[in-house]
Amino acid sequence: MQLRIPGPTPLPDEILKALSNQMISHRGPQFTEIVRRVTENLRDIFQTKGDIFILTCSGTGGMEAAIVNTLSPGDKVLSVANGAFGDRFADIAETFGAELERLRFEWGTAVDPQEVRKTLSKDAGIKAVLVTHNETSTGLTNDLEAISAVVREYDKLLIVDAISSLGAINLPVDRWGCDVVVTGSQKAWMSPPGLAMVSVSERAWKAHAKAKMPRFYWDFAKAKKSLDKLQTPFTPAVSMFYALDAALELFQREGLQNIFARHARIAAKTRDEVKSLGLSLFADERYASNAITAIKATKGLDSKQLLKILREEYDTVLAGGQQRLDGQILRVGHLGYGHEQDIDAVVDDSK
Ligand SMILES: *Cc1c(COP(=O)(O)O)cnc(C)c1O
Repeated sequence: MQLRIPGPTPLPDEILKALSNQMISHRGPQFTEIVRRVTENLRDIFQTKGDIFILTCSGTGGMEAAIVNTLSPGDKVLSVANGAFGDRFADIAETFGAELERLRFEWGTAVDPQEVRKTLSKDAGIKAVLVTHNETSTGLTNDLEAISAVVREYDKLLIVDAISSLGAINLPVDRWGCDVVVTGSQKAWMSPPGLAMVSVSERAWKAHAKAKMPRFYWDFAKAKKSLDKLQTPFTPAVSMFYALDAALELFQREGLQNIFARHARIAAKTRDEVKSLGLSLFADERYASNAITAIKATKGLDSKQLLKILREEYDTVLAGGQQRLDGQILRVGHLGYGHEQDIDAVVDDSK
């Protein structure tokens, strides 16, 4: 099967093999060695010297952890959103009692850092900014470097959903001054769903000390105390750790720059092929994502019918649109394990 959705992604043989390993004690020396190695290797990809925690949950659990560990009910939070996942981040914060200021951009257009600056300059009470690096629902990568520069200028906490970008698209966490950054195992990490990886800066720890939102399972203080012993506070998804460990070995072998370049190459090829089929891209091409491409379902293209034919007759699975984009777009995932030939196969099937 050609599985080309924005996660889960196909798994390379090395990872499938790792997943079949027998269980071990999550409090024993073999597991602590895995925790040590995985955490160290993740630091290289996050490009951070800060703490990294590996949580047993999907990406959204990591988003919730980021919120409840740094904020208090009543805190003013600026949500900068241009898609379904940006809205979700704001909704989570609101659920836990944050007071949301929502700066919205049209889906398919990029976040404008100048608008972020305008909002921050008008409202000194804002404590944190929520931003989505790669908006998976529209196939667009926001200019996080520019946005983070603005947030640093105003010295706010910067909380980033990098669930579908980290490991595929460059995001130097420390250099850009990102305080909490979340990613998920089933996106660029060539692993099954089940783990969220979260980085925590010094500034985020200071916020944590004052943050009063309720938390138990997600508490970074518990995670830190356990990580000091190379453990996790609760029983982790042991098999997923095997997978991530094996995946990170592949990352090390390929090299970070080569990984980014491979994603850029496959993405450019996907866009070219889409256009050569006479179709158009949904998102502003200047911000086109290297992890996922969204295609407009324009005149004469019934996206649901095409998805069905691809699935039933060609064993090729693409994603449709979410929420208000349902029936409006098709999405091709090209993050994680993949090569140019995979895109050729999808395009041939779609002709
Ligand atoms: C996939 C994704 C999520 C949600 O992750 P789950 O693992 O489904 O909980 C959040 N944000 C972005 C940008 C994503 O791509």
